[in-house]
Amino acid sequence: QAPALAQKAQRSTREWQQADAAHFLHPFTDSKALAAKGSRIITKAENIYLWDSEGHKILDAMSGLWCVNVGYGQPSLVEAATRQLQQLPFYNAFFQTATPPAIELAELLAEVSPPQFQHVFFAGSGSEGNDTVVRMVRHYWASLGQPERQVIISRENAYHGSTMAGASLGGMRYMHAQGGLPIPGITHIPQPYWVEHGQGMDKDTFGKVAAGWLEAKILEVGPEKVAAFIGEPVQGAGGVIIPPATYWPEIQRICDKYGILLVSDEVICGFGRTGAWFGCETQGSRPDLMTFAKGVTSGYIPLGGVMVSERVAKVLIEQGGEFEHGFTYSGHPVAAAVAVANIRLIQKLRLVEHVRDDVGPYLAQQFATLKDHPLVGDAETCGLMGALLLVKDPATLTPFPAELEIGMVCRGHCFGNGLIMRAVGNRMIIAPPLVMTRAQVDEMMALIRRCLDLTLADARSKGWL
Ligand code: PMP
Repeated sequence: QAPALAQKAQRSTREWQQADAAHFLHPFTDSKALAAKGSRIITKAENIYLWDSEGHKILDAMSGLWCVNVGYGQPSLVEAATRQLQQLPFYNAFFQTATPPAIELAELLAEVSPPQFQHVFFAGSGSEGNDTVVRMVRHYWASLGQPERQVIISRENAYHGSTMAGASLGGMRYMHAQGGLPIPGITHIPQPYWVEHGQGMDKDTFGKVAAGWLEAKILEVGPEKVAAFIGEPVQGAGGVIIPPATYWPEIQRICDKYGILLVSDEVICGFGRTGAWFGCETQGSRPDLMTFAKGVTSGYIPLGGVMVSERVAKVLIEQGGEFEHGFTYSGHPVAAAVAVANIRLIQKLRLVEHVRDDVGPYLAQQFATLKDHPLVGDAETCGLMGALLLVKDPATLTPFPAELEIGMVCRGHCFGNGLIMRAVGNRMIIAPPLVMTRAQVDEMMALIRRCLDLTLADARSKGWL
């Protein structure tokens, strides 16, 4: 018989791990390997810190999964959820109905988004947001009498979610390999990653060359068949790939030239992450659609969706008839109430300005000092996201062989030293909560240096250097 809740809370770490391994299939996880090792059990959090079931304090330099923008433990979000759960825990938006929190959130999103956005379609996650994008752009072109415009162009190593359409838009080949993806009508161009494709070129030239791959693909597919281009302003899960400043303006020019819809996936970059409300504002594009999730509620409760520009909304509303798409939780009142409280808190704490003018530039300055470390080939940031490139030789950017998994070695030291940093291949990445202070940046930098030194000592002792 299952123990009562109160008793469950007192289980030991080992007991939690056993029950976890027995019943819980984790996302993106090798379950056999995890069961042998045991999960780390996180039990509470405050501000930018987590605590595990053994009482260890951990600095969360990943904001959970890139989402806890306002930090943990914000009472106004908890109060908004509690109030709404009591007043009206659920009602849908299907049958010509709406709820006050969903309407208020739609209004507030239009206020904080770039001016072309006055409408929103709600979903439950970023993946559902991107599934909505696929359906919506094809419906848009069909409504305009151009149903042959079906193809959506994305990038290799992009991440757009884990549903069938989300994973297809994404450019992760190992995801495509499971499940026969991508679905038809989705094609990819190389990513604007200078280390991979641009060495020997100055970065601004490379940005234009990489954007040119979009034009080449449009011409290959046939401009009359292309519906949209989708990209993250800064690729997150791909390893915080910050494109050269010339990239997005050139992408915009090409989309304009062929009349193709531009979709900015703002699931990570939205809500202040890059030092503007949305990453497209930092990177210089004027999208027709924006996918959002994560930071819209700071991850306190699931919510996602798509901001729809007037270009698209006009056609949907005036010519589209019924859009045969939607989710039970499209406009969920509790999620919407939390999102409203979250956005108001971002405004009240002036977090966008804090990232743009204060803690973002400070992080950039501190991060750059890591370039003197013998393992670091590059260190770059955009707002409060950043990446370190771990290399064998910083002068030549010679990589470690992939099978040594240098990133995972470094990540192991981070976990062992009270720091959550993520490894993507040979890139160590961060995206800490936007409430982070300069003193906390210093604290994080000291931890990062210590973990790099431990990784270096490991690499030397194993004869990798
Ligand atoms: N787009 C981007 C850019 C993302 O980073 C993610 C999630 N990491 C998604 C979409 C998918 O969001 P979700 O996990 O909420 O479905």
